[in-house]
Amino acid sequence: MAELFYDDDADLSIIQSKKVAIVGYGSQGHAHALNLRDSGVDVVVGLREGSASRAKAEEQGLAVATVAEAVKAADVVMILAPDQVQRGLYAADIEPNLKDDAALLFAHGFNIRFGYIKPGTGHDVAMVAPKGPGHTVRREYEAGRGVPVIVAVEQDASGQAWDLALSYAKAIGGLRAAGIKTTFTEETETDLFGEQAVLCGGVSQLIQYGFETLTEAGYQPEVAYFEVLHELKLIVDLMWEGGISKQRWSVSDTAEYGDYVSGPRVIDAHVKENMKAVLADVQSGAFADRFIKDQDAGGPEFKELRAKGEQHAIEPVGRELRKLFAWSSAPDADYVDGQV
Ligand code: NAD
Ligand code: MG
Ligand code: MG
Ligand code: MG
Ligand code: MG
Repeated sequence: MAELFYDDDADLSIIQSKKVAIVGYGSQGHAHALNLRDSGVDVVVGLREGSASRAKAEEQGLAVATVAEAVKAADVVMILAPDQVQRGLYAADIEPNLKDDAALLFAHGFNIRFGYIKPGTGHDVAMVAPKGPGHTVRREYEAGRGVPVIVAVEQDASGQAWDLALSYAKAIGGLRAAGIKTTFTEETETDLFGEQAVLCGGVSQLIQYGFETLTEAGYQPEVAYFEVLHELKLIVDLMWEGGISKQRWSVSDTAEYGDYVSGPRVIDAHVKENMKAVLADVQSGAFADRFIKDQDAGGPEFKELRAKGEQHAIEPVGRELRKLFAWSSAPDADYVDGQV
């Protein structure tokens, strides 16, 4: 059984006695900075000169500085810039300004696991990674709840790295839900595999194939959209509440029987072989190398694939249908439906 941590296992006063720099103010950055501030922690947000996020952070009443200035003053530096820019940012603005005994925190192990960042031996290196999008991390905290976090220590220079990481996890609300102990290697490899094979890559491709199969057979695109995309949320909610079993209990016997006989026809043993190949590329660093090389070149492959995804026939159909939904929830502030 994995080791779990809750609020009682952590001492909030540890992080409250430190000066914390949050580098980046995106999905995770805004949530960590605001939750820490509201937990009584001294926070400064470190941003690039001319960053569009500066005004947003200042509007929220947060102190903002350049990355270099924020890091110089900090006992704890949480790096929440995009994974592909962390290596350059660390070399240029973080490492040269880091206090000798400052702790380095991450919300994903990518740069440590694949060696793009190699902190000096005097620094604690730990991870507090919420298992949910940043906007949910903030929303849950404000509602008095939290998003579960996974916690890891890669380098315990001070002998206090675990206490510090747990204190930070408590301050962002994570231990109200639960903290799970892991390692940088396990977090990085399982996170990349999960998003590629199942959550993002697998599900997106499954939906697109389902939509193509129905529309190519002559069914109306709007009806196909409902059947293969819209209803997915209802199914996932049931799985989230009570596992695959609750989903099967809730759907009709017809749907449940179809699940058993046709699921393994669509997702056959060959798919599992493909998953193993994806996992092997994650573990070997081949995926990381391909991603970072493309990003270093300005992301030509990334941009081409993003544009291709946007052009899939299901996107305009969904866009028009969602406008008609009386029950559409308020969109996230930064996301514009239909804008690449
Ligand atoms: P993001 O893309 O939402 O935001 C990154 C922020 O970093 C930007 O808003 C900007 O303020 C800053 N930034 C961008 N480019 C920069 C540069 N060149 N130099 C300095 N600052 C720059 O990022 P995110 O999705 O919040 O991811 C941050 C970290 O959190 C990553 O390690 C990611 O893997 C991890 N993580 C993200 C999520 C999530 O829900 N998005 C969940 C768990 C972990
Ligand atoms: Mg993940
Ligand atoms: Mg991820
Ligand atoms: Mg149906
Ligand atoms: Mg049933």
